[in-house]
Order: sequence, then structure tokens, then C-alpha cells
Amino acid sequence: MSENTVVTSEPAAAAAPAGQPQPVLWLQAVVRTYRQAGAPLEILKGAEFAVWPGESVALMAPSGTGKSTLLHMAGLLELPDGGEVFIGGAATSKLPDSERTRIRRDEIGFVYQFHHLLPEFSALENVVLPQMIKGLTAAEARKRAAELLGYLGLGSRVHHRPAELSGGEQQRVAIARAVANAPRILLADEPTGNLDPKTADHVFSALGQLVRASQLAAVVATHNVDLAARMDRRVTIRDGQVVEV
Ligand code: ADP
Ligand code: MG
Repeated sequence: MSENTVVTSEPAAAAAPAGQPQPVLWLQAVVRTYRQAGAPLEILKGAEFAVWPGESVALMAPSGTGKSTLLHMAGLLELPDGGEVFIGGAATSKLPDSERTRIRRDEIGFVYQFHHLLPEFSALENVVLPQMIKGLTAAEARKRAAELLGYLGLGSRVHHRPAELSGGEQQRVAIARAVANAPRILLADEPTGNLDPKTADHVFSALGQLVRASQLAAVVATHNVDLAARMDRRVTIRDGQVVEV
């Protein structure tokens, strides 16, 4: 690990005294190794990466370098083979599955390249559902869903089903759904990868507004240099390390 290129978090995340600012997401020396045709393939080799509340970070790296892998680690979708993932200062790798699932549901929102909205449900219902799963009443959930969709410029589209929406509108609904339960972290994996540049720009603006307004921490994997330039920081993955660019 070469010292000058590695993104060093304030190393205090775990040890930070209560009340002190700390990263909401901290990957500490994360190792991830896959097996391909029996041979180990080391994707992350002790990666360090910290993100602070209200901060947006673009993750830009060539295909196959480990962007999705990094987001899966951060989102507790996969366990690291080494190192630790801290969410809000708390180590997560040794927690029981039920607790990891709870953190994923309550603290982390995901947006993917393809929207994965439920086709039979309206935009509003797609944003209502995760809230009801969390235990909100239908009335509370509908109110927040309508507010979020309105905020993202979809006030006149709330009763449309995904197939009746444009690609950019679908992705904005997916963003609304991802933040429906007011997570602290938003992880987006090439969210505008399927969109034309103008629509991508729209979706990104909506995402940026939301991050600033809600003190979310956002990590967005993207190949779009213009969009990445508008985020607070840009990192890449080089030789299994997260490196500031
Ligand atoms: P990116 O998102 O940057 O394109 P990924 O994180 O998806 O890259 O993948 C990084 C590397 O790890 C690729 O070579 C990919 O083939 C490999 N990989 C990803 N997931 C698995 C898996 N479940 N099993 C084996 N290899 C995998
Ligand atoms: Mg990927």
C-alpha cells in the first residue's frame, strides 16, 4: 500500500468520542477475494475509504476493477474477507445477519443501473412500500412518498406505473424509494448508465439536491466525468486500493 495515494480516513472512526464528528461510512483495510476457476482473484486489498455526512463521492474506475464490489461491502450485501466496515462508527462484520439486515434497511439506500421498481405498482406505491415494511402507517408513508416525489419533480407522475414513465423519471422514483426511510448513506451503482446525457444530468441534479438537503452521504459509481466533477470528491480503485483522484 503506498502511503501517499491511499485515502486515509481520520483514523478515529471507531475511537471517536461520542459527539465528535465521524465518518458515517468507513471501510477499514477491507479485503475482498473472489474465486474464479479455482484461482483467487483479489479485488480489494486492504482498501481504506471514509465518507462523511452530507458528502457526495464519485467512484470512477474502469469496468471490472471492483466498484460494485466496494458498494456491496459498504452496503453490507457481502462480507469482507478481511478488514471492517463501520456504519455510523459501529463495526458490522461480526453482527448477526438480522442486525446487518436492519442496518441495511434503516441506514442505507441503494440505487442500481436498472431501476428495479415493481411494475404492478404506481410510483407512489413503490415509495410507500419500504416505509410500510419498516412499520409506518399507510397514511404517513403516502405523505412522505408524495413529498419526496414532488421534491424530485415527479408531482404529476405519482400515479403512473414504471412502464408509463421515462427512463429518467423511473430513476428518480428509484432514488425516492432508496431514501424513503431516511437512510444515512446512499449507494448508487451507475445510476445514470442507461440514460442519455441530458436525462442523466437531470437525475444527477435531483440526487445532488437531496444529498445536500438531507445530510446524506452518497457514493455514486459512474463513468460520467461531467457528473463526477459536480460531486464533492472523486475516487478510483487502483490495485485494490481506493485512491483519491
Ligand atoms: P465493476 O463494478 O468495477 O465493474 P465488480 O466489482 O463488479 O467491478 O467486479 C470486480 C471483479 O470481480 C471482476 O473481475 C468480476 O468478474 C469479479 N467478480 C465480481 N463478483 C464476483 C463473484 N461473485 N464471483 C467471482 N468473481 C466476481
Ligand atoms: Mg459494477
